Amino acid sequence: MSQNNQAPVLVGGVAVNPYESVEQLLADVISPDGKVVPGMAVAINPEKVLKALNDPETKEILAQATLPFADGIGVVKSLQQKTGKKCIRIAGCELWLDILNHSVAHQSKVVLIGAKPQVVERCNEMLTSQNVNVVAYQDGYFDSENVIFDLIKKTSPDIVIVALGSPKQEKLIAKMRLIHNKALYMGVGGSFDVLTGNVKRAPKAWQNLNLEWLYRLTKEPKRIFRQLKLLKFLHLYLLKKL
Ligand code: UDP
Repeated sequence: MSQNNQAPVLVGGVAVNPYESVEQLLADVISPDGKVVPGMAVAINPEKVLKALNDPETKEILAQATLPFADGIGVVKSLQQKTGKKCIRIAGCELWLDILNHSVAHQSKVVLIGAKPQVVERCNEMLTSQNVNVVAYQDGYFDSENVIFDLIKKTSPDIVIVALGSPKQEKLIAKMRLIHNKALYMGVGGSFDVLTGNVKRAPKAWQNLNLEWLYRLTKEPKRIFRQLKLLKFLHLYLLKKL
């Protein structure tokens, strides 16, 4: 249950909070005194739901999320089908920046993990110039997870943003939480590449039409195989079996 009393709803066995606004979610992340609430924010999209249906480890890790939110029109539609209420899609690639923006007032300690070395370095520069208190950053091509665990022990962060893609980032977050559970962890996929302009998001018009996935497909045609798997989600949705 979230601070806003958003009882999670199961979509294909994965719990998702049916948020009606980004502000509602942010109220669950930043407490009234401005401090960050520790936990694990996870963007739930149809791909993750399907993965969880076939992979018990993914299902178990997603169940550890304290802030599971709908980041995919398929998940939003399923929530609406189940609750009969309006809820919204929250883009993870925007949410992490909103959270960091709110972290400035308290100078919460932030660690960035993931992406190529020059990309995470550029993210650090961009965020630091906005007064975000980045205490450490590490690219996503490390030899041993111990590099990450040592970093977390050394810095005791309040917020850890992980950009490794799924389910790698969620698996790493689950391990980090065992070492340091006083932080808010969030996996953001390719968002460091988006922030630095290495990867372009769909134009607003496409986003508003819920066609961001199609835009991405035109840019990276090899994603067709990932997208085709999603027909299974559509099938389950239409049969009301999610
Ligand atoms: N990545 C990484 N280490 C790896 C594999 C991937 O840091 O071992 C990064 C990669 O550079 C990219 C992100 O993880 O920035 C993955 O982005 P993708 O778009 O595939 O993730 P999605 O948003 O689809 O989950």
